[in-house]
Amino acid sequence: MPADSVFAAELPWPDYDAKVRDGSVPILIPIGSMEQHGHHMPMHVDVLLPVEFARRVAGQVGALVAPPFTYGYKSHQKSGGGNHLPGTTSLDGATLVAALRDVIKEFARHGVRKISLVNGHFENSWFIIEGIDLALRELRWSGIDDMKIVVLSYWDFVDKATIAKLYPDGFPGWDIEHGGVLETSLMLALHPHMVHLERAIDHPPASFPPYDVYPPKPEWTPQCGTLSSPKQASEEKGRILLNVCVDGIVKALRTEFQG
Ligand SMILES: [Zn+2]
Repeated sequence: MPADSVFAAELPWPDYDAKVRDGSVPILIPIGSMEQHGHHMPMHVDVLLPVEFARRVAGQVGALVAPPFTYGYKSHQKSGGGNHLPGTTSLDGATLVAALRDVIKEFARHGVRKISLVNGHFENSWFIIEGIDLALRELRWSGIDDMKIVVLSYWDFVDKATIAKLYPDGFPGWDIEHGGVLETSLMLALHPHMVHLERAIDHPPASFPPYDVYPPKPEWTPQCGTLSSPKQASEEKGRILLNVCVDGIVKALRTEFQG
């Protein structure tokens, strides 16, 4: 009996090979970071969330989920608190780009022709694109020119109506959502045992001047590490976000991979 799992690395190689060899099965690669997320959440929120999105989406689009990238590009002060904070453990841009390029080329060697990067860490964005670009260029040099790669960050699927429902007092913007209502609500819906809402620190949304300084000025980041308060987070909001994002991602991948 063939082994069955949406997680590619849980399969014995002959089962994996049979699924991916002809290029029809997409591979979803979750990509996150090890980054502090305040006093109330673990440091791998940005990995846990895209893995779970990918798992749920994979079943609906006939895809497999690759092992996630668990380290990401450096935390930026205005979107993740900053790379100076304890616990945050990051890669140089060149390291992340090279690792992504290698992994994409390996999947291509197996026969995979459809890949989606499912991003959970804002700072990875441009490095993901660079890794893809280098991989596609090298694959073209070796005669493989039928790859299609979709890049997405799950929060981009949250529409205006959902934002209005979830943030009745005004939306602070995705950049300072770090450790706030979005991520905390999703974690409450998916991994409640890892969230300690009673330890969350209530604070006004972080505000930054329209420029950056290096080395970063620690006093710019709220001391607890979150950039907006998670106090209004709830499991119910998490379930709403989960449904909106999963539906949106499924639709996008069907359009790009099956349409
Ligand atoms: Zn995060």
